[in-house]
Amino acid sequence: MIVTMKPEAETPDIEQVIERATQFGCRVHRSQGEERVLLGILAPADRLPSCDAFDALANVDRVVRVSTPYKLVSREYQPQTSQVRVGQAIFGGDAFPMIAGPCSVESEAQILETARFLCSLGVPLLRGGAFKPRTSPYEFQGLGEEGLRLMRHAADDTGLAMVTEVMSEEDLPLVASYADMLQIGSRNMHNFALLKAAGATRKPILLKRGLSATIQEFLLAAEYIAAQGNLRIVLCERGIRTFDSSTRNTCDLAGAALLKELSHLPVIVDPSHATGRRSLVLPVSRAAAAVGADGLMVEVHPAPEEALSDGKQSLSFGEFAHLFRQLAPYIALRQTDAGSSPAAVQAARAMAG
Ligand code: PEP
Ligand code: MN
Repeated sequence: MIVTMKPEAETPDIEQVIERATQFGCRVHRSQGEERVLLGILAPADRLPSCDAFDALANVDRVVRVSTPYKLVSREYQPQTSQVRVGQAIFGGDAFPMIAGPCSVESEAQILETARFLCSLGVPLLRGGAFKPRTSPYEFQGLGEEGLRLMRHAADDTGLAMVTEVMSEEDLPLVASYADMLQIGSRNMHNFALLKAAGATRKPILLKRGLSATIQEFLLAAEYIAAQGNLRIVLCERGIRTFDSSTRNTCDLAGAALLKELSHLPVIVDPSHATGRRSLVLPVSRAAAAVGADGLMVEVHPAPEEALSDGKQSLSFGEFAHLFRQLAPYIALRQTDAGSSPAAVQAARAMAG
């Protein structure tokens, strides 16, 4: 059960709720949100008191019983989709924002050229890894702080916002001092200490699904961030590991659609890591838009054949511009479906073929 306090609630109001919960033998988890306190009232389902026990207490705004193990990120708790703003991009609204950029930041020329190209198309968010989670310790590990500096410069030069991966709690203050959004990658989705620390920063978080994480585990990882009072989370489906290695991973688009049913958090798809193949990035991007994803993250590089990581799945500028044009009707379809006239929906469907 979650008790949401009014923004004007004072300490005695909060203490009264905690005391009432304790009288019922419940534990209480307190989160300090952006402007209000949220109290998770925890007990086995058959021992939870009814909502009335808290409804009438001073400065209680709302009491919601949530049946799933993840609470704050569930749609039961919040029926309307959350909007997460990062720079000019709003995830979870009518737009379909793109995050694009190279797998790794490699040089000033590479990241600046990419940022300028993306800016010319109107892409709002630049990606790029400075700390890279590579399978082998002998592969390129990223430029570290120098990579962050180059990326910040490229973002500032073009007015784009930047998202980059943080791999450890130790690096968090440094990465947070450069990035507009923090990425927690697949390999760290189960790193609970990192999730908690990232939640405490108040930065928007891009959380990627673990390679073998179930949907429930993914949502519980997001709950770790939310339980710190940070609900500015965007979920990213990036493929899971299955028996078939023909594609680098298996893109779980049904899982992406299910996430949208179960959670109010925006959900984007990363067709680059999901497929590992440049040729599949466009079809999977179209499919992601069609299942109702809230945006995409795509790898793009000025010279993919020379990339220091993930060249095979990275698009050239020409290929990315093509993808951008091709997606326009799908994006329009999604926007019109969100609530405009049947004629507009029909027109968008016709364009989408
Ligand atoms: C990435 O986006 O750079 C990345 C390493 O992705 P993932 O964590 O999904 O493998
Ligand atoms: Mn990559």
